[in-house]
Amino acid sequence: MQFFLLIFFMIRDRFKKIKESLPKGVTLVAVSKTKPIALIEEAYQTGQRIFGENKVQEMVDKQAKLPKDISWHMIGHVQRNKVKYMAPFVDLIHGVDSLKLLKEINKEAIKNDRIISCLLQLKIAEEESKRGMSLTQVEELFATEEYASLKNIKILGLMGMASFVSDQNQIKEEFKHLKSVFDTLQNTLVNMNTLSMGMSGDYLLAIEKGSTMVRLGSVLFGKRE
Ligand SMILES: *Cc1c(COP(=O)(O)O)cnc(C)c1O
Repeated sequence: MQFFLLIFFMIRDRFKKIKESLPKGVTLVAVSKTKPIALIEEAYQTGQRIFGENKVQEMVDKQAKLPKDISWHMIGHVQRNKVKYMAPFVDLIHGVDSLKLLKEINKEAIKNDRIISCLLQLKIAEEESKRGMSLTQVEELFATEEYASLKNIKILGLMGMASFVSDQNQIKEEFKHLKSVFDTLQNTLVNMNTLSMGMSGDYLLAIEKGSTMVRLGSVLFGKRE
């Protein structure tokens, strides 16, 4: 019990400090993956309403148990067969990287009589493990008739993950690249206003390079197992 009180206190303190430090116009997504309900409730008590999860099942379970005014963001890779489980409530899907996935999201959005907001994930890191599309692929996607026919999805912007390296210059260059793609696309697509970039280790750099949405886990909730 004392252990929990200590963690609760720590979480309140971290949320307060980080929220105060973020510039206006930068949205905080609190990444709660692997964290228990009690800790999310504590974060909720500080006023936080946007939470990010990377597994559909875990997000669905938590959504059922937590207040309904929470905005749930799916930040992980999404398998098409899992879209239906989150379609009734998900607020923003960050990791969309194909027309096939967009079509599935659109289909499930129609079933739920909703319009589901999405971000396209761009590949900015050199690491093979990081997913995402290229600028050319995004432009090709926007040019297709199929894309134009998807009325129940809305692309709000882009998301990207920098390489997991200590070289700050490399991370900066990757964020700069993402921002330039974002700016290029803004000329062709209205309504794009969200640039999701920056995690615990690199969010200050990301904000410097034009991020409008940071996804923070460990700096808020502590290290994950
Ligand atoms: C886990 C995760 C985060 C948060 O990572 P931290 O380093 O704990 O802040 C952000 N974005 C994505 C896509 C993640 O999977």
